[in-house]
Amino acid sequence: MHAQGRHSPDRRVVGVRTVWRTVGDGEFFCPGCGGDRNYHRRTGRRRLVVFGVPLLPRGPVGPIVECTACRCRYAMDVLDHPTTTRFSAMLRDAVHTVALAVLAAGGTEARTVRRAAVGAVRAAGFADCSEEQLVTLIEALAADTGRLPGRYASPPGTGPGGFDPCGTALAIELHEALEPLAPHLAPAGRESILLQGARIALADGPYRPAEREVLATVGRALMLRPEDTERLLAAARTPS
Ligand SMILES: [Zn+2]
Repeated sequence: MHAQGRHSPDRRVVGVRTVWRTVGDGEFFCPGCGGDRNYHRRTGRRRLVVFGVPLLPRGPVGPIVECTACRCRYAMDVLDHPTTTRFSAMLRDAVHTVALAVLAAGGTEARTVRRAAVGAVRAAGFADCSEEQLVTLIEALAADTGRLPGRYASPPGTGPGGFDPCGTALAIELHEALEPLAPHLAPAGRESILLQGARIALADGPYRPAEREVLATVGRALMLRPEDTERLLAAARTPS
């Protein structure tokens, strides 16, 4: 129990004083001072205080999260918001996964497609990304699933076929990479990820059915409405 100063504003005749104990720490995004900061996770014990003397325990409070920089206190759900560092990593991984999924669906034969994919992945933060790296990853993935890149596509006009958006490793990866990110992105940010995938798919001509399937999966994982995904994919085909 901390001694209280003689002039403490809490020194009332009868009041409740909370004594806090730090039970953990970490890094979080502080909405108070607006950046990645360290926090202390703290629990408190309330005591009824009479003339500054703690008497009756009034039960535990918290846990709460306290910013070590600005000392603001928050409910635990403030930790649901990713740090800026974590958010950038999630965004980078999201674009990388979308690029791989589109390449796996449409194939890596076309140079323009490989260049579009590398451009998107580099811009997202993987500055060292190269065409060979992406192709190697796609081949490894194909070996893993026993399917060849670009062979998911059904012949034009037969509708989506080979690519099963619920069953493939990449569809699962898409959901894992995009779903945790989606709630933290404004609609424009979610649309931008879809459009980056669309531009890769369009780099060698119109969407193939398998590419459309992948992009529809991307839209769903990003919590875009199907009609918005359709509209965005159509708009991406029209050069502005
Ligand atoms: Zn703070």
